[in-house]
Amino acid sequence: MTIKVGIPRGLMYHVYYPLWAKFFENLEVEVVLSDKTNKKIIDDGVKNCVDEACLPVKIYHGHVINLKDRVDYIFVPRIMSVEKNEFICPKFCGLPEMVKYSIKGIPKLIETTINFRSSRKDLKKIIYEIGSHFTQNMKKIELAYERALGDYHAYKDLIKKGMLPIDILENKSYRNRNSNFRKILLLGHSYTMYDGHISMDVIDKLRKNGCTVITQDSFSSQYINEKANTLDKKMFWTFGRQIIGAGLCAMDQRDIVGVVYLSSFACGLDSVIGDIIERRIRRESNLPFMLLTVDEHTGEAGVNTRIEAFLDMIRWREKNEANFSAHGKHLSIH
Ligand code: SF4
Repeated sequence: MTIKVGIPRGLMYHVYYPLWAKFFENLEVEVVLSDKTNKKIIDDGVKNCVDEACLPVKIYHGHVINLKDRVDYIFVPRIMSVEKNEFICPKFCGLPEMVKYSIKGIPKLIETTINFRSSRKDLKKIIYEIGSHFTQNMKKIELAYERALGDYHAYKDLIKKGMLPIDILENKSYRNRNSNFRKILLLGHSYTMYDGHISMDVIDKLRKNGCTVITQDSFSSQYINEKANTLDKKMFWTFGRQIIGAGLCAMDQRDIVGVVYLSSFACGLDSVIGDIIERRIRRESNLPFMLLTVDEHTGEAGVNTRIEAFLDMIRWREKNEANFSAHGKHLSIH
């Protein structure tokens, strides 16, 4: 009987799913992905997670519950750092414990620690630790990983060419390339922006309103780093650096007509990052900026109204005053 591994469709799913899924498949393990986020997954997650957690972590718990009775293992790695000298949110470090102690009757977790803060030299050890749940053949594990890496690079290449992760993962035919559309930069954590239920389908809503949506994933890491290096202090959070760097890139791009920051309620990181990027944009450009904060109680009507008002303001500026600041001050373009 084939062994089944569940991968929750939350947190790092949009970043690493093609790598992890292919790795397991290459080891002849069946991958079961949790359902798309829905009301039940959110309700289960909220009920079975500590109150203090942010919305994406609660939803992740809902995805684990969605998988728990149909798999042999659930992949919940303890991700501490994915880049040298950087960290990710501390909530990721305690994720396996949070899940284990909050949800009853879960299958065995694959909770390997991933920490590349000092170097990536432990990568082989990590790969072997994960793979050894299914085989003791080191060569087979290495080969499975190398092949998966090839698929992962192909995924990243499609993103570099202008597709959004969600279009690739959900086989959407949409190509984010219509150069006649207004280009909006959407910023935020991947698990907030690309989860249609959490984000209230903000990407689809912008697209239906004649916008091309790009995100921090659309910029090269070199360009993002160059911009992030202009900050007074180094940003030690990997995702924070990427989001701020992309926001700063947007100020150079004359075809970007607005920036939307999608933030999760109760996310400490978002409150800091959103504030930094909003200040820089207000101070150094006349680019319209909108902060949208979502939580489990956010109503769709409110989000629709905010998006419509934001786009109305952009249209109005285009028609009337190309040099009228979105932030209350008159700026002139030379
Ligand atoms: S960065 Fe924010 S949204 Fe993400 S896991 Fe941490 S607290 Fe939650």
